[in-house]
Amino acid sequence: MAPQAYVLADMTSPEFKEALRTVEVAVIPTGANEQHGPHLALRTDIANAHAMALRIAERLHPRVVVVPPLPFGISPHHMAFPGTITLRPRTFLAVLEDVMSSLKEHGLHNFFVINGHGGNLPALEQLTLTAKRDLGVNLAFAKIWPSRDVMAKYAATESFGHACDLEVSWSLYLAPEIVRKDKLTRGAFKQSLYRHAGTVVTIDKDTTRRSDNGALGDATKASVATGKALIDPVVQACVEFLEDFMRQNRRSASGRVTL
Ligand SMILES: [Zn+2]
Repeated sequence: MAPQAYVLADMTSPEFKEALRTVEVAVIPTGANEQHGPHLALRTDIANAHAMALRIAERLHPRVVVVPPLPFGISPHHMAFPGTITLRPRTFLAVLEDVMSSLKEHGLHNFFVINGHGGNLPALEQLTLTAKRDLGVNLAFAKIWPSRDVMAKYAATESFGHACDLEVSWSLYLAPEIVRKDKLTRGAFKQSLYRHAGTVVTIDKDTTRRSDNGALGDATKASVATGKALIDPVVQACVEFLEDFMRQNRRSASGRVTL
């Protein structure tokens, strides 16, 4: 199947109008343009989220269309590293709101964000809480990675997280062109205040406090097999969720929601 069958930006306007006869959900990939250590490109989170969105859309064709990924995310905690570009949370939210409002004008009411970057999560949670009331749309979002418990089973070190063996593994699986295979290296992990994060306190995520080279884990242990084992169940879960999401939010000709 040619990607233009489900990639909005590759369609002509008449083709999109025709696609709207069957499309029920717009998938919006979000990520970040931020440092990922010495071994992953700045666009890593965007590339992986986009690749996941395409896999999901292919499975649910012709009911899903993929919107262009946002080129930036919320990355103030990586600004110490050159190349990182961050949006303020309100800018990120405003762009997403405008994307959804625009597509709502064309008749779409259901949106699914597939997100590749942890720094976007608080904003996405906020938007998911308010989208129906403020914009009159149905919104859900998913992270591209599985639960922390699942990841811990595959991680080479306890300090997994950013630009680690797991993220390199799913990059090798989803978007191998962003991986510098000759530069794979261990994260320069530093024990810090950070060990309290996620317990009873929330702190800023300034990367310089936990890694000198911007990476965690041990990327030399990354593999395509690990990436596949982590990602395939998430794609499957998203597809199953979207089947239910579409069923629950399907509008009858009268405009009433049919459950
Ligand atoms: Zn990342």
